[in-house]
Amino acid sequence: MPDSTSDFPESVRAPFDLMRQAWSESPVSTAKERKQSLTGLLKWVQANEKRVAVAIDADFGGRSHHETRLAEVMIVVNGIKHTRSHLEEWMAPQRREVWWMLEPAQGAVQRQPLGVVGVMAPWNYPFQLAVLPLVQALAAGNRVLIKPSELTPQTSDLLAEMCAACFPPDQVSVITGGPEVGAAFSSLPFDHLFFTGSTQVGRLVMQAAAKNLTPVTLELGGKSPVLIHDSYPLEKAAGRIATGKWLNAGQTCVAPDYVLLPKGKEQAFADAILAQAEKMYPTLGDDYTAIVSERHHKRQLALLEDARAKGATVIQKGESKGRKIPPTVVLNVSDEMTLMQEEIFGPILPIEVYEELDQAIARINSRPRPLALYYFDHRGKRAESVLQRTVSGGAVINDVVLHLANEELPFGGVGHSGIGSYHGLEGFQTFSHEKAVFYQSRFALNGLFKPPYGSFINFVLDRLI
Ligand code: NAD
Repeated sequence: MPDSTSDFPESVRAPFDLMRQAWSESPVSTAKERKQSLTGLLKWVQANEKRVAVAIDADFGGRSHHETRLAEVMIVVNGIKHTRSHLEEWMAPQRREVWWMLEPAQGAVQRQPLGVVGVMAPWNYPFQLAVLPLVQALAAGNRVLIKPSELTPQTSDLLAEMCAACFPPDQVSVITGGPEVGAAFSSLPFDHLFFTGSTQVGRLVMQAAAKNLTPVTLELGGKSPVLIHDSYPLEKAAGRIATGKWLNAGQTCVAPDYVLLPKGKEQAFADAILAQAEKMYPTLGDDYTAIVSERHHKRQLALLEDARAKGATVIQKGESKGRKIPPTVVLNVSDEMTLMQEEIFGPILPIEVYEELDQAIARINSRPRPLALYYFDHRGKRAESVLQRTVSGGAVINDVVLHLANEELPFGGVGHSGIGSYHGLEGFQTFSHEKAVFYQSRFALNGLFKPPYGSFINFVLDRLI
């Protein structure tokens, strides 16, 4: 077996070695067995969804239970059901055409499990972002080691409990810990490593994986822009953006990060979107989520301080409540401000203005490639042209965030926002090896093409080349 793990800390090495051993003894699983695993998981999630909401609420110091049901439990349940219903179709070998010269042989692509895969998850949707990759890795027939974020310890404990209740430890296991454990984890010789988190840590994870030539999927973040065309009704755009932006208080990888608006419309847009926010969260009560930790809270406040000091206008409705910062719009922003340089990952929404659409597209293209791009325009041709002229992980026309909720669409980034994708078929493929298999027939013509070469081969090659 390749790649010794003897140098690793026991807490990381032991569960990995156990799985690798189990894999070498039993690398094959049927569709029926995989479906049983998924069904067991589904039942656990349905029976324990309240505990998931309570754990995440405690970890955040205030996370709406409805948001947890909507954006974690529902997405996971839908993901399991969708995967289960397509499993046989995805597992079936794909027949391929055979070049006439090689006939009557046959060709097929078999999707084979990779072996032992690692899943590293962030804190912002600590349940969904650990469980959805788990579902797809299991569906593809792998054994899975999960490393959740240290910032959501109650959820991590619950994940560990869930995995122990649903699977033997040589099939699925959870390893908890902070960056040091993360560093050791990402150095394990996995057959695939699936990481969701920041671009900065993603770089370290990829470096660690490169030492083992472990392939990675990196689901990262970035500044996802919203571009609004002059002709689009402002109120309507504001309503849709408000819902996506302040879900989880903006702590969403595909949250609208900044808005590009035709010049002169910024005040009207700020008024409209903050009015929407006020309707949704009149008191910053239970429906509004807190910033996950004191460190992250301070970072949001520092972003605002920096922007104010450099001449921005900060507009907020209402007062902060503990770590709950009210929905905030920032006007008159510039590139010198940190909030226009880093992913915001909180409830602050800066507005940039443009005069020509081309100028707005150039602004987007001058920044690293975003995870998502949102464009508001009822003119389909113009929308297609914006899609063609920008490169982003995914895109939504006339709304935000929702591409993530559709299991039939692949989800992932490009450039600095990530490598690879998952959800649906693409998730199954991410965790599978696509093996080319050539089935030779009893009688094969290629037997004629071997030395000693003579005039016959020249005759054939002259006609083929
Ligand atoms: P993070 O990169 O800090 O942490 C992610 C995981 O990496 C955690 O499990 C953490 O313990 C581990 N880790 C931390 N330091 C490490 C190190 N030095 N070596 C190895 N592992 C280490 O990310 P986060 O703050 O938890 O999450 C926020 C980021 O994740 C944002 O940038 C957001 O956009 C991104 N994100 C992306 C998606 C997506 O699907 N593309 C989804 C959610 C969040």
